[in-house]
Amino acid sequence: MMSGFTPSLPYRGRFAPSPTGLLHAGSLTTAVGSYLEARTRGGEWLLRMEDLDPPREVAGAASAILQTLEALGFEWDGVVEYQSRRHELYCAALDQLTRDGLAYACGCTRKEIAAHARRGVDGYVYPGTCRHGCVAGRAGRAWRLRVEAGETVFIDRLQGECRQDLERDIGDFVLLRADGFWAYQLAVVVDDAAQGVTDIVRGADLLVSTPRQIAVQRALGVDTPSYCHLPLMVNAAGEKLSKQTLAPAIAPQAAADELRRALQRLGHVPPNECGSLAELWAWARGHWSLDKVPAGPVTV
Ligand code: GLU
Repeated sequence: MMSGFTPSLPYRGRFAPSPTGLLHAGSLTTAVGSYLEARTRGGEWLLRMEDLDPPREVAGAASAILQTLEALGFEWDGVVEYQSRRHELYCAALDQLTRDGLAYACGCTRKEIAAHARRGVDGYVYPGTCRHGCVAGRAGRAWRLRVEAGETVFIDRLQGECRQDLERDIGDFVLLRADGFWAYQLAVVVDDAAQGVTDIVRGADLLVSTPRQIAVQRALGVDTPSYCHLPLMVNAAGEKLSKQTLAPAIAPQAAADELRRALQRLGHVPPNECGSLAELWAWARGHWSLDKVPAGPVTV
């Protein structure tokens, strides 16, 4: 099945960082691209803190991210939403999916899955052990979405046509984790739908997740937004910039330089006369075009 755009709605974009570390060149570049795309299309731009994974979070990171965005001159619409305060919405979505027979409890441990499953495109492909009920004597630990057979196809505005066979490459995937935390794949869909997001512009590392999110959208009966995955930012060794690969934090005191570099990575080279933040943003708004943005990885 094909998922396309929902062009009739007014544009509403968002930036959804996880407070697992400070902003780095990769996350800042995503923020700049999603912001400019929203603003140049006359749209709104929301900010959502994806703080659903306390074990991976860093104390103070959420407020540091907001301060850095402010120092760089971003202006978001409405209040910042925090996923950690939206538990009821995710519960209601999981209840709906369970009532509709689309989600089920799974009692398998990681070890058991590793022993029986083959590897897919993003970890092990769940072999479906609990699809028709947990093994006798086992209680459900996690909740999974029942995926359908066949390819999921969508058109990404930058990456073009993308396809994935969820059953073959991913398997029934987790919505509520065994440790009690909500899975990103469920929360992101519930929030984007609840917040009326029409256009998702984010990093290409999430391309592999998009078919899962489309499956959740279809299961919940909500619209599929338009997708645009910006190039992956990699270091000299070709690794995705992240806390794990020791990507340096963005320096709010060097805001104009940081913004200039982010624009350059997105294929937009501001003239030297644009020295201040305000001049750079004004230039960027006047010159922004997705056509100039490279699709492939950018070395930072
Ligand atoms: N919170 C996710 C991240 O920081 C991004 C989610 C999204 O944009 O869909 O990687």
